[in-house]
Amino acid sequence: MVSKQTVSYLTQRFREVGLEPDSRHGQNFLIDLNLINLLVDSADIQPNDLVLEIGTGTGSLTALMAAKAAHVITVEIDTHLHQLAREELEEFDNVTMVQQDALRNKNNFNPIVLETIQNRFSEIPGGRFKLVANLPYNVATPIISNLLLTEILPTSMTVTIQKELADRIVAVPSTKDYSALSIWMQSLCDCRIVRVLGPGVFWPRPKVHSAIIHLEHSLEKRGRITDVRFYHEFVRSLFFHRRKFLRSVIISSCKGKLDKPEVDEVLAALKLGPNARAEELPVEGILELGEAFRQKLHDLGKI
Ligand code: SAH
Repeated sequence: MVSKQTVSYLTQRFREVGLEPDSRHGQNFLIDLNLINLLVDSADIQPNDLVLEIGTGTGSLTALMAAKAAHVITVEIDTHLHQLAREELEEFDNVTMVQQDALRNKNNFNPIVLETIQNRFSEIPGGRFKLVANLPYNVATPIISNLLLTEILPTSMTVTIQKELADRIVAVPSTKDYSALSIWMQSLCDCRIVRVLGPGVFWPRPKVHSAIIHLEHSLEKRGRITDVRFYHEFVRSLFFHRRKFLRSVIISSCKGKLDKPEVDEVLAALKLGPNARAEELPVEGILELGEAFRQKLHDLGKI
């Protein structure tokens, strides 16, 4: 199966149907065949895999993946592209095309998409679920961070995203990129940048660099977190006020649930002094902290 996605193919196809790429929807198509293959190979798609693609585009990546996977669910917001890709993907009986916004809002997946995944997944006994996509950059963060909160957990996510976002995901403590997103993703996944991509490998050229990133979901990591939703909110709350001390951040986020002496008690037990800051703590430290506060709130009947 050879992808046809080149600049001349795309410009001709768009001209034929009287369309222009829509930058509002992050329509930048990957035109380097080696890189499309690198994306697919990095995802290590197996015959038993259910693949979710967000952003069908013209369906080139979809077709490559359909040749390898048990089934591909591909979601496209743009009705014209959805129509155009339908023709390309006609020959595949293992592709489900969904014309929808992948997200209901910033914090939630579209329930229609989730239901489609659930239904398909139940038909593949022993299968694995993977996200593989050249993601629309404006929704990349909510897609990858929220997929870890849904009921059908992905084994891995292999995606092209803005390089700046990839840098934030893999960032280490005490750097400007280290954020709630770094901690959330690294708490659950082994995160690796596969390749940095210049603007020239997309049509039209985006203004920024991109990266292929592979996020391997680790059940062992997940097993360390008692309440994943609580932990997600906890991590986000730590970075609402970036330069404040950890103590004051937690006091304000636990307001109405824990008083100051109770917060101090938890921090002291973890040997975190008054000068500790969230952005200096390694992921392990944040995990411990989240677990300690969850326990405290639970003991006091607050959650
Ligand atoms: N997979 C193709 C297209 C990538 S461009 C390729 O690699 O070439 C990103 C695609 O995502 C576009 O087709 C765009 O219309 C679509 N898209 C943008 N926002 C979306 C959303 N919220 N939900 C689903 N698709 C979306």
